[in-house]
Amino acid sequence: MAVSGRGPYDPQNVFAKILRGEIPCRKIYENEYALAFHDIAPQAPVHVLVIPKGPYVSFADFSQTADEAEIAGFTRAVGHVAASLGLEEDGYRLLANMGVAAGQEVPHFHVHLFGGAALGPMLH
Ligand code: AMP
Repeated sequence: MAVSGRGPYDPQNVFAKILRGEIPCRKIYENEYALAFHDIAPQAPVHVLVIPKGPYVSFADFSQTADEAEIAGFTRAVGHVAASLGLEEDGYRLLANMGVAAGQEVPHFHVHLFGGAALGPMLH
């Protein structure tokens, strides 16, 4: 079910549980501010989620309230993962669903990273 993308932050959401180590993930990379892991239901040959470690509900929340070190650390993690997976030559897609209209399902900000194939005009 889609969520609003506005607070309050729910500490029982699935990505919060992954960050606390309460449920497993297939981790690819982490730094001080971000964690990257494989999506459990991939929509492309490479489908990775990158999440900030802080409690942000959506891109709106993250972009407006995270501090600059968090934003930089998160952004660099996304770029690092894409490069380390060898996606830069053929290209890749980043996507962030924010709120009900976009169909956001998990109320912890995340960026989808898609690659490994010709992706077509749109993925959802
Ligand atoms: P969104 O619709 O943008 O909120 O996307 C949520 C994404 O989280 C979907 O692509 C799900 O397949 C993915 N997902 C949900 N639970 C897990 C999990 N436990 N581990 C990895 N990915 C998950």
